[in-house]
Amino acid sequence: MTTTPTRMPALFIGHGSPTNANERNRHTLAWQEAGRHLPRPRAILAISAHWYRSGIAVTAMPAPRTIHDFNGFAPALYEIQYRAPGDPGLAAQVAALLAPSQVRLDQDWGLDHGSWSVLAHLFPDADVPVVQLSLDARLAAPDHYSLARRLAPLRDEGVLILGSGNLVHNLRTLRWAQDAAPYDWAVRFNDWARSCLLSGDHESLADPFRFGEDARLAIPTPEHYLPLLYTIAQQHQTDAVSLLTDGIVLGSIGMLAFAVGSA
Ligand code: ZN
Repeated sequence: MTTTPTRMPALFIGHGSPTNANERNRHTLAWQEAGRHLPRPRAILAISAHWYRSGIAVTAMPAPRTIHDFNGFAPALYEIQYRAPGDPGLAAQVAALLAPSQVRLDQDWGLDHGSWSVLAHLFPDADVPVVQLSLDARLAAPDHYSLARRLAPLRDEGVLILGSGNLVHNLRTLRWAQDAAPYDWAVRFNDWARSCLLSGDHESLADPFRFGEDARLAIPTPEHYLPLLYTIAQQHQTDAVSLLTDGIVLGSIGMLAFAVGSA
């Protein structure tokens, strides 16, 4: 890792199954590769699909716990501890930036698997402080985008903003085979969103249901899609978008990951 630059990139990672935390596959290898090329951040602000609640909260404890928020997986997955420190100062700064929205300084949550399953590959040494920001379930997608724009100053202070979700995420339609073919609607929605991403069409991405039935199937509930808006909201006009990995697994889980700015 190199020294902190003047402006950090922002990342979105399609995290997929919790088992990605300790698996090597083409997606997790791409996350590792990205981690090796990232400038070293001062801290990470993670927005995970798995902290979707009413109201806005930010983790403000000095040592966030590792939350194993899933059921039915092999014991090894429950033994993983990601012991990155917190950053109460950054939590306070996030709360101030998001004003006048009310932000609760949280002492109970920690790092859920949306964050640590990805961070275990990006920053395996767990030596960069991590703060999580919740997704306010009361807000519509365009409001999340507007809220996220207020976090823009953080990139210039060495903070890496990490959205962790899935562009396509429909658990009801999963096909349980390693080589399962993706649904046509999943491919169409992924293609549409990727093209919006690469052309900088934030207006469409912030209001994805304008894409119709395919969007409703790809986003049956919003929590896995919304973290993407926190990442694109950090994009300046001069920032390129680089795809880190792409593809749809289990029929209806989109693994697309990208960086905004130099990564
Ligand atoms: Zn998830």
